[in-house]
Amino acid sequence: MRQGACAVSRNMKDKSLNDFISLGLPSLITDSLTAGGFTEPTKIQSQAIPKLLEGRDMLGIAQTGSGKTAAFGLPILAGILGLTGRPRPMTTRALILAPTRELAVQIDENIRKFAGSKMKLDTVLVLGGVSRYHQVGKIAKGVDVVVATPGRLKDLMDDNKIRLNETRWLVLDEADRMLDMGFIAPVRAIAKQIGLRRQTMLFSATMAPEVEDLAKTLLKDPIKVEAAPQGSTVVKIDQRVIMSGSKAKRGVLNDLLADEKEGMERVIIFSRTKHGADRVAKNLAIDGHEAAAIHGNKSQNARQAALKGFANGSVRILVATDIAARGIDVTGITHVVNYELPDDPENYVHRIGRTGRNGASGIAITLCDGTEKSKLRDVERLIRRTLPVSGDVNLVEEAPVPRGARNAPGAPGGARTARNPKAKPRKFNSPRPGGERTKAAAPANGERPAQAKMVRRDSETGKVIGGKPGAKSGKPRWTKGQRDAGRARRASASA
Ligand code: AMP
Repeated sequence: MRQGACAVSRNMKDKSLNDFISLGLPSLITDSLTAGGFTEPTKIQSQAIPKLLEGRDMLGIAQTGSGKTAAFGLPILAGILGLTGRPRPMTTRALILAPTRELAVQIDENIRKFAGSKMKLDTVLVLGGVSRYHQVGKIAKGVDVVVATPGRLKDLMDDNKIRLNETRWLVLDEADRMLDMGFIAPVRAIAKQIGLRRQTMLFSATMAPEVEDLAKTLLKDPIKVEAAPQGSTVVKIDQRVIMSGSKAKRGVLNDLLADEKEGMERVIIFSRTKHGADRVAKNLAIDGHEAAAIHGNKSQNARQAALKGFANGSVRILVATDIAARGIDVTGITHVVNYELPDDPENYVHRIGRTGRNGASGIAITLCDGTEKSKLRDVERLIRRTLPVSGDVNLVEEAPVPRGARNAPGAPGGARTARNPKAKPRKFNSPRPGGERTKAAAPANGERPAQAKMVRRDSETGKVIGGKPGAKSGKPRWTKGQRDAGRARRASASA
């Protein structure tokens, strides 16, 4: 009786020490989780781990920050522990595909951390942008886990440097992003080489129709787990919007960074484009702030160095583009600033998820100019919330100015006419505010001229960023042959 009571109490104590034990993971793994401070599974881990240990395929809707790496990683490690012998040369037992190098690096680090020091585990990172020499060398001996971006892995497959015939576990992490980045063909080719004797796990932050399609073809009767409903934003993140003209954003950002009450200790700033990210980082440096930029035009080493500086606190501000930021898992980010709204509203959810991680609170501030109002509405529709707005709330949408208004006295961009003598003469070819009319040739027959085409230009670079199809195609109207024939005709007519 006493013995039984003792066993029960020890069991309860074990459980309270580490809830991962009840999920069916081997003690070697739960011990290393305890040592690493992981004692309580997250929602997706509790849902996924027992089913994956049974060998089921899985379709997971989960964002970075939900603990999905352990959700798929721990059952794979448990499976590898159950295998005997070493992996054969040029093969891998598990393959984890990720869209970006940063995410792949983090997955690899986490998997090795979960395995701990007692489990002998050979992993290799297969990434583009760095030498393949060490990657090929490690694979040649045979490894337990390959964490790869699809492009480089496909290159190695094509060069017969890796064989996937012995691979039993396939994970597609952030599948939506992989598809967005155009990796669908290599992903399908890779899955085909692995064959059907595999357990497949597909994780995605959103369930776009393309992801559903991919899931249908790659997964067998998968169980579905969801860590957060689609488009949901982390509850603890305090979100707000500051309306500001695009040129005024620099000043608004400086004010925020200088405001002690705002407490911007570790800040990630999102820009829509690589050039935009460079420009923001450059302006921050000019304005006296320590900032690093991370985007696709930077070398892998520069990206890793920027991330390291940001993670260890030597750099307070990281400026990033959406793609480069996927998978950034740096703790203690107090603020996310959207310097520009993303084109895809779902990226807003990913961006702000960089803060408020692991139950912490965080602040997300979006700077929105007149041209971005519709993007803001898209975001609000997706997250099913109206965000509090401050700043220049009357900022008008920088839309085309109505015909009549253009010539009104003092109207911006109005032509210099007798009714509007104060209007500044426009420089030749300079963009009109809110859009520009391309010259439409006046037909010789005296009919009304054809409707002019609208083009929008980036307010800072002056480049065409939108407009009707064909408006920016820049195709010559005549071929060289037609031009020469015309010239010859005119020459002979005047002769
Ligand atoms: P992930 O969503 O897999 O990128 O994980 C986000 C972060 O949460 C990582 O830093 C993990 O180390 C951490 N994490 C994952 N699972 C747990 C857990 N059960 N308890 C505490 N932290 C966790």
